[in-house]
Amino acid sequence: MIKPHGGVLINRYAKDNEKANLEQKAGSLLKVVLDDKNISDLEMIASGAMSPLTGFMTGDDYKSVVEEMHLPNGIAWSIPITLAVNKETAASIEKSPEVALTDENGYPLATMQVKDVFTYNKEKEAEKVFRTTDKEHPGVAYVYGQGEYLVGGSITMINRPRHTDFLDFRLDPADTRKAFAEKGWDTIVAFQTRNPIHRAHEYLQKCALEIVDGLLIHPLVGRTKSDDISAEVRMQSYLTLLEKYYPNDRVMLSVFPAAMRYAGPREAIFHAIVRKNYGCTHIIIGRDHAGVGKYYGTYDAQHIFREFNRDELDITPLYFEHAFFCKECGNMASAKTCPHDANAHVFLSGTKVREMLTHGELPPKEFTRPEVAHVLMEGMKEEADSQK
Ligand SMILES: [Zn+2]
Repeated sequence: MIKPHGGVLINRYAKDNEKANLEQKAGSLLKVVLDDKNISDLEMIASGAMSPLTGFMTGDDYKSVVEEMHLPNGIAWSIPITLAVNKETAASIEKSPEVALTDENGYPLATMQVKDVFTYNKEKEAEKVFRTTDKEHPGVAYVYGQGEYLVGGSITMINRPRHTDFLDFRLDPADTRKAFAEKGWDTIVAFQTRNPIHRAHEYLQKCALEIVDGLLIHPLVGRTKSDDISAEVRMQSYLTLLEKYYPNDRVMLSVFPAAMRYAGPREAIFHAIVRKNYGCTHIIIGRDHAGVGKYYGTYDAQHIFREFNRDELDITPLYFEHAFFCKECGNMASAKTCPHDANAHVFLSGTKVREMLTHGELPPKEFTRPEVAHVLMEGMKEEADSQK
């Protein structure tokens, strides 16, 4: 089994016999209210998905990660994992070495041993992490909109966030590692997605599966842009696809609780490191992985892996070209494997597919499996109706 990042799988859940005490203590501590992104991060720290992190980043961690893509101890890390607060909260926290972290209803999630309260330069973070200071970029907009102070220190999770969805698919790294061992898989490829799986993605996954033991489809269900298809509808489409077209004993579906940052290349590195913690040995990195708009070059998220030594990431990225069905080849192919020109390729843009589905029109079966198209169509219709 591949080692977790930094060597040890972190576990920051309170032990059962400490929970009652901690919960009581949290009641008397200064409370810091977390938003949905902070809660995603908190849960991933507690579960070990973000090993070796044991809490939100201190000033030293933050600076080192933003500027060097490494933690101060030399371990690779590409995305700042931070907890931002406003000036008033920062002033109160400075007088209180321990705080309670709650959801918006005051439900206690964790305690935090505060080690550091610090200011930071938002433009610099945007430039370094997102490669743009454009406030139209959703990740940059989030940073610009958050508090002026960051609070760092280790956390202990008292209660998991109160999830109501995907309960059967919320596997921690310890759970996926156990499942892989039970299945006897030595090599596992992770597929990150925040979109429906069309034939092109199915093709990449199956190409990868030809060379490893198992496939982990790991859709992101944390915060995304409002125009991305909802996680509920996507999950239904994945289940339908898996049932009809995937070998049961070679594929696992589990949800990835992370929030999207849309940081492109840097987020690809983050996605790889975290999937290693889940026990994956390989990860599919397609074109414009974790990108948004036109902020990143098509292959930037592949090229960035060259900036790290092979052994410091340990997980192997599998780079893929854009795939399509080619009428001349008579099968799925990519720019790498098909000699024919674009006229022979069945390709639709994401916008075009959405448009067709919204109008109850089936995309070509070479592009989307009809069973998947039906699920998406129904889901989008229900969502549209509920918004009326
Ligand atoms: Zn062809």
